[in-house]
Amino acid sequence: ITFEDFKLNRQLLNAVADAGYTTPTPVQQQTIPLITAGHDVMGVAQTGTGKTAAYLLPLLMKVKYAQGLHPRAIILSPTRELAMQIEESIRQLAKYTDLRFLAIYGGIGPKTQIEQIKKGLDILVATPGRLMEIYLKGDLVLKELKTLVLDEADKMMDMGFMPQIRSILEVIPRKRQNLLFSATMHPRLENLTAEFLEFPMKIEV
Ligand code: AMP
Repeated sequence: ITFEDFKLNRQLLNAVADAGYTTPTPVQQQTIPLITAGHDVMGVAQTGTGKTAAYLLPLLMKVKYAQGLHPRAIILSPTRELAMQIEESIRQLAKYTDLRFLAIYGGIGPKTQIEQIKKGLDILVATPGRLMEIYLKGDLVLKELKTLVLDEADKMMDMGFMPQIRSILEVIPRKRQNLLFSATMHPRLENLTAEFLEFPMKIEV
């Protein structure tokens, strides 16, 4: 199996080649077709397995090109460091597209982040607290959201982000695709999965 076997466009295949990826990793082989088909997916995969590209490639394919002002995909991250890494992966894989993306997180003032949001964006990477903070100020419109990704969901639960995640789930459109990735099969994930995912396909690598 090669990246050419997935329904990815030329812009993405060229970026994948530039990144030096020759063969899809096991999590990519299993996950990309399911996400492309529109399923909710729950993936248990450690960092280092290629899980970021596993959800980013079909996500970039779906979001496709710059459109409107408001994010159509949100990726939630437990930490600022992971949010920045995800943003960097998007920069790499979306380099031949016109997609607009941004990572927002705490630890710095929200002013610059809000200014960038107002210029319009397609994909938002965010830590849960900062996302809710900016949303509650009225500076973020979530009604165009079509895909929500929870990366390192187990870590988000360990860090006590469940209340923020619940608040986010309450204010985003019901009809959307949900993708959840976790390094471990945390017992508490069962509850979150039941609440958050619809008929999820489960992948474990
Ligand atoms: P992740 O598990 O998403 O943190 O990815 C771990 C590392 O593997 C990152 O540095 C990626 O750039 C790299 N990577 C992702 N997919 C592939 C692939 N198919 N072939 C080679 N490297 C990859």
